[in-house]
Amino acid sequence: MRVELLCTGDELVTGLITDTNSTYLEARLFDLGVKVARVTVVGDVRPDITGALLEASARADVVIVSGGLGPTSDDFTLECAAAAAGVSMEEDARVLGWLKERYAARGMTMNPGALRMARIPTGTEPVRNPQGSAPLVIQQLGRAHLFFLPGVPREYRALVDGEVLPRMRTWLAAESGRTFRAFRLLRTVRLPESVLNERVMPLAPSHPRVVFGFRTHAPENHLKLMAEAPTQAEADAALAAAEAACRQVLGTHVYGADGSEYAPVLLDMLARGGHTLAVAESCTGGLVAQELTAVPGSSQVFIGGAVAYSEKMKSAWVGVPPDILAKHSAVSSQTALAMAEGVRAACGATFGLSVTGYAGPGGGTPEDPVGTVYCGLFGPGMEPRCERISLAGDRDRVRLFAASYVLEMLRL
Ligand code: ATP
Ligand code: MG
Repeated sequence: MRVELLCTGDELVTGLITDTNSTYLEARLFDLGVKVARVTVVGDVRPDITGALLEASARADVVIVSGGLGPTSDDFTLECAAAAAGVSMEEDARVLGWLKERYAARGMTMNPGALRMARIPTGTEPVRNPQGSAPLVIQQLGRAHLFFLPGVPREYRALVDGEVLPRMRTWLAAESGRTFRAFRLLRTVRLPESVLNERVMPLAPSHPRVVFGFRTHAPENHLKLMAEAPTQAEADAALAAAEAACRQVLGTHVYGADGSEYAPVLLDMLARGGHTLAVAESCTGGLVAQELTAVPGSSQVFIGGAVAYSEKMKSAWVGVPPDILAKHSAVSSQTALAMAEGVRAACGATFGLSVTGYAGPGGGTPEDPVGTVYCGLFGPGMEPRCERISLAGDRDRVRLFAASYVLEMLRL
């Protein structure tokens, strides 16, 4: 089944709003095993909308159209649908009844604009909108089924879930020779994209039903696996085999799959061990704490910590001995370890983490240039650990990657 989306509205082509209706529908369709073939966006220009409807319906089995069903003069998508089909617009008694009910319930009178919403192309089927006034309209144009939905995201989503997808499920079930799909996103840390590619692509010839794809989501890299097969069971099996093979070559670089993000996975791991965590940050200025506290329920694990930016505060707040600072500088393995040990003791946490480095653009030394970051980890029954990392890029990038690297020390 070939499915296309068409979004209308001047706001979409003038940078005012982002087309989130399409992303919502694409994800829902993908869950049904349907990959959208094309998305077209046009402004509020009649010939453009009519032309786009004709073009999409010549290619696709289903076209889902968003926007331009409302009461204002820039809402004329259905008039374009009528023009595309060569039919007229007529007032529909059912739609008029729904509108009257809705307006009466709100104590509002219907003006001519509101009345316009009762006019739909001849031969189309209206479906009541549970969240708003303009109905969903279904039209057959050539061999294509067209769905016209209001652009307001709340209404759009309700009609997609309640009306469009159930119909599509029925059609898909009746379709012969269809393709079934299964999808997995493997999330990796500390693996450059090129290395990720190098490790997994040799596996691809052994998994001909699986498409390998890559996505950089700084500071992470993600591997997308999509299996296609004539039955769902075969697609699931092909995906499972490819995923297992990829996980084997990627090892602990894979921290999670699909929607699970790093900080929740880490916090969950610590919570299951009954552990707590404290963090002393210098160059990241609170980014690590921000990352952790963004997760609901993080207080079970993350006790707190300090942004110890100056040397004075590194001593006063997290107890770095002044002679370490004098002898080794604020950006050194000795300082990082003392910060981790100090914050762990001060907070009474199971683990103490620390991060100190040169984020740039100024600073650094010949031995430790800008981009050098030291991360420390102190915990029970383990040797204190320190990592020196060299990061490229501007200040924002160094800080972002440093915050992620320090958290990864707890897992890797
Ligand atoms: P209304 O009755 O509000 O006029 P409508 O069906 O005519 O609804 P539009 O006028 O095109 O739809 O859009 C209504 C509002 O919905 C827009 O102002 C915009 O904020 C939002 N919207 C429209 N299209 C999209 C889209 N593709 N993605 C996200 N939001 C959208
Ligand atoms: Mg409108």
